[in-house]
Amino acid sequence: MATLKIENIAQINGEVAIAWEDGVETYLREEELRKSCPCANCQGEPDAMGRVVRPPVIYSPKSFDLVNIEIVGGYAVKFGWADGHATGIYSYAFLRKLG
Ligand SMILES: [Zn+2]
Repeated sequence: MATLKIENIAQINGEVAIAWEDGVETYLREEELRKSCPCANCQGEPDAMGRVVRPPVIYSPKSFDLVNIEIVGGYAVKFGWADGHATGIYSYAFLRKLG
């Protein structure tokens, strides 16, 4: 399986634009990106029985204000938001699927 790579990632007009090494470009609205946050606080964790209960997530306008983009380990991107939330690690494969 070929490993995806990001050539460039930038914030443009409320969207995150990702240029992939294979020439594909992905545009993701910041709000959509935040609502897709894959961390356990946002999406829930399976309990002992394997059931996943999605916790209630409270958003504020700051929740959709992207303040930091960080590439993690060459396979994922960590986004930091103005409300202090920064635990979501978005794998490249996940970001491609979102786009
Ligand atoms: Zn989260």
